[in-house]
Amino acid sequence: MALIETQDLRFVYGKGTPFEKVALSGANISIDEGEFIGVIGHTGSGKSTLVQLLNGLLKPESGRILLDGKDIWAEPKKIRDVRFQVGLVFQYPEYQLFEETVYKDIAFGPSNKGIKDKGELDKIIRTSAEFVGLKEALLEKSPFDLSGGEKRRAAIAGVIAMEPKVLILDEPTAGLDPRGRDRILNQIKAYRDKTGSTVLLVSHSMEDIARCADRVLVMNKGDVDMFDTTENVFKQGEHLAEIGLKVPQITQVFLELKKLGANVDTGIYTMEQGMEAALKYLEGGAAE
Ligand code: ADP
Repeated sequence: MALIETQDLRFVYGKGTPFEKVALSGANISIDEGEFIGVIGHTGSGKSTLVQLLNGLLKPESGRILLDGKDIWAEPKKIRDVRFQVGLVFQYPEYQLFEETVYKDIAFGPSNKGIKDKGELDKIIRTSAEFVGLKEALLEKSPFDLSGGEKRRAAIAGVIAMEPKVLILDEPTAGLDPRGRDRILNQIKAYRDKTGSTVLLVSHSMEDIARCADRVLVMNKGDVDMFDTTENVFKQGEHLAEIGLKVPQITQVFLELKKLGANVDTGIYTMEQGMEAALKYLEGGAAE
């Protein structure tokens, strides 16, 4: 059974007003436990709407979301529990830090979830901080005294601290410098590898997606355009370009080489694969 599944999921903003906008027109997706899913799509394609529906922040106009086989809206009073199980890190989450200390900020989610035991809470806070690489000394500081990257990591730690089954991150690296971006991505990857959690990463950066995702969900105009392995999705360079997306640069290089007549693999999406394929090609060429 899938961990999370959507059936004909539809959402409309401003229903019945002149500004009515169908943001999702019937999406069907199915995600298994432990998968790392990359979510891509042009601005306005419905990515943010989809992830807010998945954690129960928005209610579908029609269609269903099943978590562990159960409709999350079957008992609307229990929707809060869904938000603990499907943790969502918003775009620019640092704007949601509001406690006096980083420690208290990370404690907010698990306390609300009902963890009262101080020792248990303390352990969760420190483990979550460690996952995102926040030093112990920073925990007693005000969130406002942290650097941009540290604030972002503190906000992510606050969601991880709820120990969600599914962790969704909406553009977690937006606005960070390349070093900050790499750190966060590596930490998210390590978190997934260590906990076996299911992760959904919404990103504009094809390089980030290529590095992390097992499968890629491509959204276009409020619907699922493709949902396949990272390799299969990035092989469709021309199609992705048609819907306003790019493939990773290294994939582009190999697609161009193929067009020029070189006998190279086109399922390349990381630098490591690129190096290997280039060497293979050069060796093959030398042998001829
Ligand atoms: P993405 O995350 O892919 O950029 P969104 O889910 O934010 O896409 O948006 C999908 C569509 O819904 C877009 O056409 C967008 O303009 C519209 N939309 C998003 N949020 C709102 C809102 N609060 N009110 C009205 N329309 C919205």
